[in-house]
Amino acid sequence: MDLFGGYNPRLSRLVILNKKENLYHFPVVCNQCENAYCMNVCPTKAIKRNADGIVVIDPEKCIACGLCADYCPIKVVCLDPETGKAFKCELCQGKPLCIEACPTKALELVRMDNKGKINE
Ligand code: SF4
Ligand code: SF4
Repeated sequence: MDLFGGYNPRLSRLVILNKKENLYHFPVVCNQCENAYCMNVCPTKAIKRNADGIVVIDPEKCIACGLCADYCPIKVVCLDPETGKAFKCELCQGKPLCIEACPTKALELVRMDNKGKINE
């Protein structure tokens, strides 16, 4: 599944953080926070939690204000460079494509509690 109709790192929903002057690079994605700041600040209520607990953005309601990107504490909301509309990881309906695509199988989908402990 290719959500944007092509491969473009600027449209990735997985954000690569560069730390220590580019010595470390690691991927981060939306945590689907219990108290989702992005959802709380959206002026048009374009961000909702769906029945599976995933925080999703409705592009029809998004007015490209960028507030969700500003308020996300881990900066994983991206803004489309052409439309300014927000997008982020929504877990690809439970089967994340990044996990399938990773050649070294470095990515895994796990459930964590709100203290960051992995639930077995
Ligand atoms: S976008 Fe940021 S604030 Fe919103 S649910 Fe994901 S991690 Fe939390
Ligand atoms: S950019 Fe869109 S989704 Fe984000 S806060 Fe603004 S209207 Fe809501």
